[in-house]
Formats: sequence, C-alpha cells, structure tokens
Amino acid sequence: MNVLGQLAEIVGGEMIITGVAEMASATEDWRGRYHGAALCVTRPADTTQVSEIVACCHRHGVPVLPQGGNTGLVGGSVPASTGVAPVIVSLDRMRRIRSVDPVNSTIEVEAGCVLANVHDAAKSANRFYPVSLGSEGSCQIGGTIATNAGGTSVLRYGTTRDNVLGLEVVLPDGTIWSGLTGLRKNNTGYDLKHLFIGSEGTLGIITAAVLKLHPFPARTAVAWAGLDCPEDALKMLTLIQGTYGAKLSGFELMNRLQLDLVVKHVPQRRSPIETEHDWHLLIELSDSGGEGDLDEALQAVLEKGFSAELVANAVIAASEAQRAALWEVRHSVSEANKKAGVGLTTDCAVPVSATADFISKATENVHAIAPAASVVVVGHVGDGNIHFIPFFTFDAWNGLAERDALSLRIRHAVNDVAAALGGTFSAEHGVGQVQLAEMDRYKQPAELALMRVVKAAIDPKGLFNPGRLLPNT
Ligand SMILES: Cc1cc2nc3c(=O)[nH]c(=O)nc-3n(C[C@H](O)[C@H](O)[C@H](O)COP(=O)(O)OP(=O)(O)OC[C@H]3O[C@@H](n4cnc5c(N)ncnc54)[C@H](O)[C@@H]3O)c2cc1C
Repeated sequence: MNVLGQLAEIVGGEMIITGVAEMASATEDWRGRYHGAALCVTRPADTTQVSEIVACCHRHGVPVLPQGGNTGLVGGSVPASTGVAPVIVSLDRMRRIRSVDPVNSTIEVEAGCVLANVHDAAKSANRFYPVSLGSEGSCQIGGTIATNAGGTSVLRYGTTRDNVLGLEVVLPDGTIWSGLTGLRKNNTGYDLKHLFIGSEGTLGIITAAVLKLHPFPARTAVAWAGLDCPEDALKMLTLIQGTYGAKLSGFELMNRLQLDLVVKHVPQRRSPIETEHDWHLLIELSDSGGEGDLDEALQAVLEKGFSAELVANAVIAASEAQRAALWEVRHSVSEANKKAGVGLTTDCAVPVSATADFISKATENVHAIAPAASVVVVGHVGDGNIHFIPFFTFDAWNGLAERDALSLRIRHAVNDVAAALGGTFSAEHGVGQVQLAEMDRYKQPAELALMRVVKAAIDPKGLFNPGRLLPNT
C-alpha cells in the first residue's frame, strides 16, 4: 500500500485532503506570498495518530510539515516551492483543554487549541495566560510554542518560552516523548523542552503542553498618547517604570503612518486621538487587586509626561469597551498592512535604550537604497522589539525591477543596524524561509554548527520542515 493509503488507514480517508483547491488554505501563507505543493493534509485526532503518521512518513522518507493556525509571518508554515511535496500534519482537531490546576497555576492543553480559547479557559479559573498576539483568534498553542511567539505582554510576563513548563512531542521517527510536567523546578540534566520551543517544526510535532498561569489581572488601565519622537517614548518608559514598574503590562509604539493605515483599511477602527502626532503610544497598567485606582495612577504619570513635554496629547479609556477598542487598533496593524500594500516586515530587537537610535539609522539606510519606500514602524518598544517596515503601495512595488534582490538589500540594511547595536534580526517571528539568508549573515559559525548537530541527532533523515530555520537543510 502506498503512503496515502497507509495514512488513510491511520486517520480515516475523510481526514486526508489531497485536492489542490481543498488544500489551498494550508499551502499558502497568511499574507498570500508563499506557496508550495503538498502530498496531502492530514488531520489526526490524537497523539497516537500523530505518532503513526510520522512513523509512516519516516518509513517512506516523506517530508513532514507540522501546521498550526498558519498565521506565521516568515513563510515557515507552508511547503517550499521546490523539493519533495510534504505531508502537512494539521493539529486543528487536537484542541482539548485537558485540565486546569488553579493551585499549581497550570493548564494542560492539546497543541491545536486556539490561543484565545486558552485565555478563556484560564479566565474561567480566575487565572491568566499572558501570551497575547493580534492573531490570537486563529493561531494555535503548538504554533506559538514552535515559534516562541512574543506579543504585547513580554515586558511583564516574558515570551512563550517563559510560560511553558512541559511538552509532549512526537519525534521524527514517531517516538512519543512525554515531558508534560507542571514543575517549576527540575534539575535532572538538559531541559529538552527548550530544544522544541522555537524549533519551527524542524525537530518534531508538539502535541500537547503544560503552560504556566498567572493571577488574573482584574484591574486594568489603558491610555493612548501622542508624542513627537521615539526618544520621548523611552523617557516615558523610564518614568513609568520608576513609579509603577511592576504594574506596567503593555507599552506599544507606532508611527503616524501605521495608525493612518489602520484607520483607513480596517473597518470600525478610529484614531483614539488626533493623528497629527508623529508617534503614538499605547500604555497599559494592570494588577490582580490591591490599593489605589489604576486610572488615577495612569493619569498621574501622564501628567508628569505633559509637564516634562514628553507627551503632547493623551486619552485614558473610561470603560472595558474603550480599553478593548484601544487594543483593537494595535492588534489590527498586520491586517491593515496586508490590505494597504507590500510591507517588508522586519522583526529586530535591540536593547531598549537603543530603539530610538535603531529607528533613525534604519530609516536613513532604507531611504538611501529605496527612496520610494515609506517607513511604517510598530513595535513592542517596552521589550526592544521594533517591526520596522519599509512599505510600498502595490503599484510602486509592481513597478520595481529585481524585487527579490531589492528586498534582500533592504532587509540587510535594517538588520545590519540592529546587529551593530547588539540586537537580533528575529525577535519573535522566527526564521522560516524569509530570514534564512540572515542566519548565515549574522549567526556565528559555531552556533550554526551546533544547531546542525542537534538537527542531525533528532532528525537524521532531514524530513522535518526541510529548508526552514537552518540554511541548506
Ligand atoms: C495579525 C497577526 C498578528 C501577529 N502578531 C504577532 C505578535 O505580536 N507576536 C508574534 O510573535 N507573532 C505574531 N504573529 C505571527 C504568528 O501569529 C505567530 O508566529 C504564531 O505563533 C504562529 O502560530 P500558528 O499556530 O499560526 O503557527 P503556524 O503559522 O501554523 O506555524 C508556524 C511555525 O510553527 C510550526 N508549527 C506549528 N504548529 C506546530 C506544532 N504543533 N509542532 C511543531 N511545529 C509546529 C510550523 O511548522 C511553522 O514552522 C502575528 C500574525 C498575524 C497574522
């Protein structure tokens, strides 16, 4: 029996999709920029079926591509346009919340759980899972772990890596590794889960996880402020951290062009204040209880900002609906940019103190290479991660010659600045296929060599998500 026949025996014929049109949503990325052919999409119901699928592919030497919500932004979740067509293993049926332990403050979930559903399950136990992204209504826990997703709460709660306690993984030969512990302390040798966090589907399939929960932030205050420059944003950050550091849970920056694109291209989004300010900040304070009024605290710190001429204008949300509306503006940036044109999204992180310098030098570099590009800036400035986006209208982009070469030059022009400031070219989106060339350019040869050793040890046949993360795999 051929591979497809054997896979059908494992999951049932109706859970194997082979039609090109039926597979389209799995073979094209969220932005519609990357496409490739797949042998099929399989939809296993549980870890045993995942293991049997993987063992079958291993026997036949067929590549495997784990897929979550397919919201990744670096082309890592879709097949390559060349090479052997992989079996896509979709986790979308594995969406069970297995258990919540409010005393241990943990939740055990299957990898296909949508991130927003994990938030809801934690909330129903008066707990909080802090990883929050614009894509949280469709990305899956397995995908967020495989990419070590960041998002808007990193400055307070850390990245996904900081919030995973245990994993269950199907290894490339089909072996199930069950590391589903909820322990905070466990010094028994190499902590293997960290190999799989951020591995982008190149070392196995994450099938379940134990996640760390936090007290639910019952009180929240959110403000939107207009500023003249990123330097003033950093001064505001220092001011707030000096007064309310432990309560600061969001500190997001965008430039005027980014706000204009959201207001223009996403229905129901309004600018919270007049858009004439060149820079805009979203600030959130939160806690799970305690003394004092958070709105008043935010008001007080904004007044200090006015007095120091750091803030030109600001509004504090007066209700839960208004707080949500401010966050919706922030969470709509990717949708707006996708509709508005072609953005060459970069994902640098630099030391927080260097972010203003990074923005100014990267702008200079990009304008020297591509005078027709506008610059969209949006970022988690509180943790030093800036999405610096050289941006073209569709017409301007289509009129350019040698677009691939130009994109690469622009990317290098931005990432070189981050590297010179002690930063990285990938803070939270990962490497996928978009950033492969940067691995050779910025990673030390010793680091790449070690990564290859790990890859060869765990996936000696090189079947898992080939051509991603590591150049020439
Ligand atoms: C509107 C929007 C906003 C976003 N905002 C942010 C943001 O603020 N911060 C951020 O970090 N990212 C952000 N992203 C990027 C994206 O949502 C994240 O990378 C997310 O973690 C991907 O999850 P997913 O389930 O969609 O994974 P996919 O896109 O399906 O896969 C991503 C990678 O993980 C691998 N993978 C997926 N599931 C598994 C699994 N179970 N086991 C092993 N490997 C697996 C895939 O092979 C692929 O390499 C955003 C994307 C969009 C569209």
